[in-house]
Amino acid sequence: MEQLRRLTFLTPESWICPHGEQAVHHAYEQEDLMPLFGGTADADAGEHPCPHCRTGLTEVNYEGAPAWRCSYCEGIFVADRAISRILIRRDMTFSEDVVRLAEAATKQKDLFQKGRARFKKENPFILTCPKCANKMRRQFFVYSYPIEIDRCISCGGVWFDKMELETLQYIYEHKDKFFDGRGF
Ligand SMILES: [Zn+2]
Ligand SMILES: [Zn+2]
Repeated sequence: MEQLRRLTFLTPESWICPHGEQAVHHAYEQEDLMPLFGGTADADAGEHPCPHCRTGLTEVNYEGAPAWRCSYCEGIFVADRAISRILIRRDMTFSEDVVRLAEAATKQKDLFQKGRARFKKENPFILTCPKCANKMRRQFFVYSYPIEIDRCISCGGVWFDKMELETLQYIYEHKDKFFDGRGF
């Protein structure tokens, strides 16, 4: 642990491959590593702990709406009411990665069927709301929007993993191109 602590490049967002395992995953998914990042697996990281990293979120102004961002995993929490305000704004420039993600997501015809089957099979209540500490449900943003998000079952706030919010905004702004104006 002490040796790991000296690796300054190691963040909760780092990809790691635990000894004896084939799969790589994020460091934040490995609970025994969390003491390295000043967070713990328990929700004691202040008022707004990141649902992945458990470190405190920073309040930011996201296109005029209050939001809370994690500086490690770059996820962002937005209160229910603020989301439509963000979607209506049209002054965003999108990175190539976001455009690629949006195009890949909208091309998959059976995405919704597969997603719903997966939510049924796997536990969709994995994350804890950073605002009210209730469970968040993994779901599509709305039916017919091919972006998976985590929505709090109590306060309705939404957690967007890295690039999910930007991808949603891109699809929203280009919905005529992606959906022929249908589906919303
Ligand atoms: Zn985080
Ligand atoms: Zn909540």
